[in-house]
Amino acid sequence: MQRFKSKEIGYRDVAPILEREACVLCSLLKRFQSSCVLSGKIVRVDRLCSFHIWAVAGGAESDRAARLFTQLLDARELGEENESERCDICERIMQEESLRCQDFVQLLEDDEFRNWLVGQGALCLPHAARLLPRLSGPDRQLVLALLRKTRERLRDALGAMLTEAGAGQRAPVLLSRVAEFLKGRRGLGRPGSGGRNQSS
Ligand SMILES: [Zn+2]
Ligand SMILES: [Zn+2]
Repeated sequence: MQRFKSKEIGYRDVAPILEREACVLCSLLKRFQSSCVLSGKIVRVDRLCSFHIWAVAGGAESDRAARLFTQLLDARELGEENESERCDICERIMQEESLRCQDFVQLLEDDEFRNWLVGQGALCLPHAARLLPRLSGPDRQLVLALLRKTRERLRDALGAMLTEAGAGQRAPVLLSRVAEFLKGRRGLGRPGSGGRNQSS
């Protein structure tokens, strides 16, 4: 996966992986998560949360899943009631998330990115809460306005879904967008949770 650690990051660097009306950070991290679960990015695990253990079971190539699960079986203390919430994939995602938050702050200096964000982008509430303390002045106002606009758009769309005939066809996408706005994309590290991911 392409990474954006250079000093200068612009809209064109991230445009190919941005999803319209989806949280920018969730979109960036979703790809990273897939590479952790599906490919060989993670080769050694001691603990996985419920979400990621089922993601590996259902998504990873079978030989790779078998190797990871052998490690988990060997690492697990038998009879341990309250297993720690620690998860090796969650921890990798949270490290990546810190880098992506830095990228986002830097991207805000790019006019093309700002225009895209205001016109077509979104941020989920957890990621906005993580970003806002780093932002001031116009950048902060832009993010707050984006959150208000996103909430309004989602509420209007839900209202339309409840009243318009045939609107139920759009329900899966819309409901996923609302869930993402409220909680972030499934399985991604939870900002402000003290390093723990409770996405199971
Ligand atoms: Zn997000
Ligand atoms: Zn996890």
